[in-house]
Amino acid sequence: MTSVERYEKALEVLDAYIREHQLRHTLERERLLKIIAEVNEPVFTVHDIDAKRKEAHISVPTLYNSLDLFVSARILYRLERTRGVTSEQYKWALDAKNSMRVICTRCGREANFTDRALLRIIQERKYANFVPAHFSLYVYGTCKTCRRLLIQKNTGGKLKK
Ligand SMILES: [Zn+2]
Repeated sequence: MTSVERYEKALEVLDAYIREHQLRHTLERERLLKIIAEVNEPVFTVHDIDAKRKEAHISVPTLYNSLDLFVSARILYRLERTRGVTSEQYKWALDAKNSMRVICTRCGREANFTDRALLRIIQERKYANFVPAHFSLYVYGTCKTCRRLLIQKNTGGKLKK
């Protein structure tokens, strides 16, 4: 999704949410949505949009109220990450989809895989006090190239099948 497509889709979702909940339409919210749509990171923090927020004359309380609204409207997901200090991160909910990936812990190479049986198990699972939206599944290991290099190293150059 391009930033323009993302903005237009988000605006559509926001319009529907505002109508449904009989809220006020504000220009600040639309402007903020546009700023967020232009962030080219999969995950962002308030810090990442601070300069543009100031440029657009959007106050800090308006920023936080709008972010809350975007989360309620399922435009954004809020992720809490604790790395020394707890900070709030946001992720686009609109382009989120299920993913299953293998990742090599030696070279970082990633690839998609599909497993319908696994997909069904995860989607049909019931969670206590929780409604799932989508999931990411990572399987860590060693890729073929790295495995070959490892075997070569361990056997002194003799490659076994
Ligand atoms: Zn590898």
